[in-house]
Amino acid sequence: MKTDADGATVAVQKDESQLRQKRMIAEHFTRLANSRQTGEKNTYTFVPGNLTELLRSFDLLPVLPEINALQSGMRGKSKDYIAVAEKLGHSEDVCTYVKCDLGMMKSGNIGPTGEKMPDPDLLLLSYTGCFTFLKWFEILQQEYDCPVAMLHVPYQGDGEITEQMRDYVVDQLKTKVIPQLEKVSGKAYDEDRLKELLAQSAQAEDDLVWVLESAKQKPSPIDAYFGGIYYLGPIFSAFRGTDDAVAYYKALRAEVTQRLSQGLGPITPEGEIESERFRVVVEGPPNWTHFREFWKMFADEGAVVVASTYTKVGGVYDNGFRHDPSRPLESLAEYCMGCYTNLNLPSRVDMLSRYMTEYQADGLLINSIKSCNSFSAGQLMILREVENRTGKPGGFIESDLVDPRYFSAANIKNRLESYFQMIEQKRSGAAS
Ligand code: SF4
Repeated sequence: MKTDADGATVAVQKDESQLRQKRMIAEHFTRLANSRQTGEKNTYTFVPGNLTELLRSFDLLPVLPEINALQSGMRGKSKDYIAVAEKLGHSEDVCTYVKCDLGMMKSGNIGPTGEKMPDPDLLLLSYTGCFTFLKWFEILQQEYDCPVAMLHVPYQGDGEITEQMRDYVVDQLKTKVIPQLEKVSGKAYDEDRLKELLAQSAQAEDDLVWVLESAKQKPSPIDAYFGGIYYLGPIFSAFRGTDDAVAYYKALRAEVTQRLSQGLGPITPEGEIESERFRVVVEGPPNWTHFREFWKMFADEGAVVVASTYTKVGGVYDNGFRHDPSRPLESLAEYCMGCYTNLNLPSRVDMLSRYMTEYQADGLLINSIKSCNSFSAGQLMILREVENRTGKPGGFIESDLVDPRYFSAANIKNRLESYFQMIEQKRSGAAS
C-alpha cells in the first residue's frame, strides 16, 4: 500500500504477470526450505552463465546468491547483513551482493521470504566476466562442507566466440561438470531430458524477446528496466526450461499485446504512465534498496526506459541466440559466453548504440554502481562513445546495489531532472 497526495491509503498497482512471478519465486523458496524433508538437493550457482537446464535435468534445485541479495535489498534487510559482513572484516569496497549474502548466512541463512535456506549440496562456479564470483565461492567453500565444480568461461576479448572457445567449454561440461552433477544427484546424465528442457527455454525466450522489443513502439507498453526486471525474474533465476517459465512468458506476452493494442504505457507502482515524454536507454544495474523511489523519479517525469543492458546479464536473446536442443552442450557453452557481462567494451558500445537507434531513444543514462567494478569499468568511455555515434545526450548517476548508504535520493533526483531538461533543450534546439 502507499498514500496518495491527500494522505489516503491506496493499493500499489501491479501487472498480473508481476504477481504471477512473485508467486513462482515464493514457491521456489518454500520448496528450498522444505528440501531437507523432501530429499531434494540443490546447487548454489550464479546468474550470468547459469546452467539451469542442466541442473534441472538432474533434478537439482538452483539457488542464486545474487537473487537472494537483491531480494534482501528490496525487503529492507541488506543494511544489517552488510553490517554483519563488515564487522567480520570485509571492506567497504567489496561487492555488496557478496557482503549481503555472507551477512545473511551468518545471521542464520534465512532467505528473503523468511524461510531458512538449505546448505548447498554443490557450489557450481559457472560465471562470466567478474572475478568476484570466484572469491565469493572461495568464502562459501570455507563455510560449507560441500564439493565445488568449476566451469571456466572464456571472456569475449576479441568480441567473438570461436570454435576453440566453444570446444573448451563443452569439454569442461563433459569431463568436469556433468560427472560432478551425477555424483551429487546420484543420477546419470540424461541428454534427452536436457533437450526437452532446452526446447522449453527457447519457447520462453521467444516470448521474452517479443515483450522486450515491444518497447520499440510509441508509446512503449513496457518499461524495459524497472518493469523489465520483473519480466526477467523467472528466466534469470531458477525457472529456465520449466513449464512454469513457458506459461509465464506466454501470459506476459498476451498481457503486453493487449496493452499495445490499447496504446497504453507501462504500469509503475504509482500507476500508469499516461504520457511518454522521454525514451531512454539505461546501462548498469538498478539500486534495489530504493527500487520504487528510483522508478518513481523516472515515472514522475514521464520517462520510460525502452531498453537496458542489465536485463541482458543473464543472457542476450535479442541478438537471435536461443538455447538449441539439437546442440545441447554447445548451446549451453554459447549461452554462457554470450552473457552481457562477458562482452568486451566495443561490443557493449555497439549494443547500446543499436538500442539507441532501434528504440528511437532520446538519450543514454548510466547508473554506475559503486561496488560493482565489473559493470562500472569503462562506463564513461561507453557514454562518450555512444554520444559521439548517436548524437544523443548521455547522463550519469551513481548508486549502489544493496547498500542503502550509497543511495542519495536528493542528489539522484536532481541529476535526473537536469538530464531530462537537457534532453528537452536539445530537442527544442533541433526543432528550431
Ligand atoms: S562485482 Fe558486480 S558483477 Fe561481480 S559479483 Fe558483484 S554485482 Fe556481480
